[in-house]
Amino acid sequence: MLLAITVEQLNQHILGICRQQEIQIEWRRSSRGGWAVHEFELISIPPINSAIAYAVALHEIGHVLGRHQRSRSRPVRERWAWDWARRHAITWTPAMERTMRRSLDRYEQRSWPPIQTTARASSVETFDDRYR
Ligand SMILES: [Zn+2]
Repeated sequence: MLLAITVEQLNQHILGICRQQEIQIEWRRSSRGGWAVHEFELISIPPINSAIAYAVALHEIGHVLGRHQRSRSRPVRERWAWDWARRHAITWTPAMERTMRRSLDRYEQRSWPPIQTTARASSVETFDDRYR
């Protein structure tokens, strides 16, 4: 990158999207993982203190705003959440690309059982993501 983008700019970008789209953020203590509840427009993300955390945040937002998030296929939902992330990022670093690739590899390799509805709500799907 020729232009230095600060972590604070990345943080403000995420906050701006969430404010504009009325997405609620639950901040995580851990820097690993994240989840999103499509129907509640709710995401749980680590603090934006790195490009990777920024990528994770965009990805979780992608589970709310991205295309094909009602697909029964988890790899399809993951791919399109990452598609949304990459298209809306103000920067896309090699580290962000690696985070995306690793995450996608995991979903492509495993066959995920369909997510069953839980006791707490009938039709809510939670996208629970883990990142290395
Ligand atoms: Zn995901």
